[in-house]
Amino acid sequence: MPVTQSIFDIVTEYAREHNAERVRRVTVVIGNLTGVVEDSVRFYWESLTKGTIAENAELVVVHVPLKVRCYGCGTEYEADDQFAMFCPSCNFFGGEVLSGKELYVDTIEIEGDSHAPSEASVAEPPGG
Ligand SMILES: [Zn+2]
Repeated sequence: MPVTQSIFDIVTEYAREHNAERVRRVTVVIGNLTGVVEDSVRFYWESLTKGTIAENAELVVVHVPLKVRCYGCGTEYEADDQFAMFCPSCNFFGGEVLSGKELYVDTIEIEGDSHAPSEASVAEPPGG
């Protein structure tokens, strides 16, 4: 899975730059609109990190709900996915996406250095 590979690349590069002995914890932010599934990220993460500096690192996944502002009446609401963007007030379909497109590595904790990196963008979801 390319997303997990990108996360892994960012983490290992960061660890190398900071002469880490090992990676302790990684926090990843995933918006619900990205379609990225936590279970598959975890699955690939475990196989990718095996035998590397990031082996046994704790992977924390933060989910960002899909929030929409209705084009019809301006109501803000949460939707399950892009096919469920129906306004609860006026039943209008679609709207401005306020959140849910997030996909990035938030923090990387390594042994020997407690500084968190600035926000690193992993990938932009298709369709913007
Ligand atoms: Zn509405």
